[in-house]
Amino acid sequence: MAIRFKLGGYETVAGDPLGRGYVGYFPRMTEDEAWTAGRGVWKASAEKIKRQRFALVVGEGAVRAIAEITGHTEHDTPTGPRIALDGRLLPAGHPVREAYLGRPDPAASGSQNPVGYCDLPEEQPFLLRPCACGCGEKSDRDFLPGHDVRAIQQRVRDRFDGSALKLIQFLDAHPTDGTPATADGGHD
Ligand SMILES: [Zn+2]
Repeated sequence: MAIRFKLGGYETVAGDPLGRGYVGYFPRMTEDEAWTAGRGVWKASAEKIKRQRFALVVGEGAVRAIAEITGHTEHDTPTGPRIALDGRLLPAGHPVREAYLGRPDPAASGSQNPVGYCDLPEEQPFLLRPCACGCGEKSDRDFLPGHDVRAIQQRVRDRFDGSALKLIQFLDAHPTDGTPATADGGHD
């Protein structure tokens, strides 16, 4: 899922927790301006935010900025605790940006709540999942950098007496293209 923040109308503010002079939407704002105005401060669950990868800022019904979330900060305000996101705007060409920037709010519903959540089909390849080496960390690929090599080396130690040659001979004797291995394990 992604989180969506809906900007209100432009207004100047004093004492803003993020040190901004204004919040809200104004026409022709840049992505940077939309992210600055939209990344906080919101009444939202920190636990739920930690599970999101992308944040969309909507103004006047259309998506004005999309960022990858890198963290969040919590702020005490006179009206209660609020959250702001840290993030990086998605670069041109990113499939999530290309699918939604400038387009209608994908989280639009009858709700007046400016904070909403939605599933984006385009985000699926980017969602974090457990590293396949079993280290317990998360990655948006099968393995964290270098962990694929570590996982292979572990198997060489555990199952081939630490011999890469035995692993290679085993693989050569067990083709993965569906053809049966020959009796001597070689080809022709
Ligand atoms: Zn790993």
